[in-house]
Amino acid sequence: MTVTVGVLALQGDVREHVHALTSTGARAVPVRRPSELDAVDALVIPGGESTTIDKLLRAFDLFAPLQERLRAGLPAYGSCAGMILLADRMIGGIEGQQTLGGIDVTVRRNAFGRQVESFETDLSIDGVDGEVHAVFIRAPWVEEVGPGATVLGRVESGPAAGRIVAVRQGPLLVTSFHPEVTGDTRVHQLFVQIVRDSL
Ligand code: GLN
Repeated sequence: MTVTVGVLALQGDVREHVHALTSTGARAVPVRRPSELDAVDALVIPGGESTTIDKLLRAFDLFAPLQERLRAGLPAYGSCAGMILLADRMIGGIEGQQTLGGIDVTVRRNAFGRQVESFETDLSIDGVDGEVHAVFIRAPWVEEVGPGATVLGRVESGPAAGRIVAVRQGPLLVTSFHPEVTGDTRVHQLFVQIVRDSL
């Protein structure tokens, strides 16, 4: 069965996600309007700038319909800024910034601090065979995980060792890092499997 996965295309690295999803055998389409959102089985919220994506969601009349679909069980994968948008709680947002919510975690924006603001490391993710090369770009981490959510991966070495960077809750998946920039599609495969299992 071919699943149709939308990629929220307001800002951020949309093309890379479309490419990674297509490589897994899913149909990937950009989503900019409510009618396009209605037509997808699942949604990827890309990395970019969460403050900008939040504002554009409102400007494009997508915030409320997307929140409604998430509450109704829409499978979604958020990387980096997308992780912030799917978190129920956020530390370090700008004045007025909101999240869509859905996943029972508290994220901290721009969490890794000056010295490791952007870095790359290998780590393991539950549900993915072998190590994943994780690229972090001014990334958030997950500061606190509520009882509804499951930790899938943490930074394993260096100054940020132990920090939670991948979480799942039902059909929702979030990562602090950007698998779409490495050419490795295993995290997208994991998400597409979650989507298939939910249909
Ligand atoms: N720092 C960005 C934010 O707060 C996220 C960075 C990213 O998505 N690469 O939205």
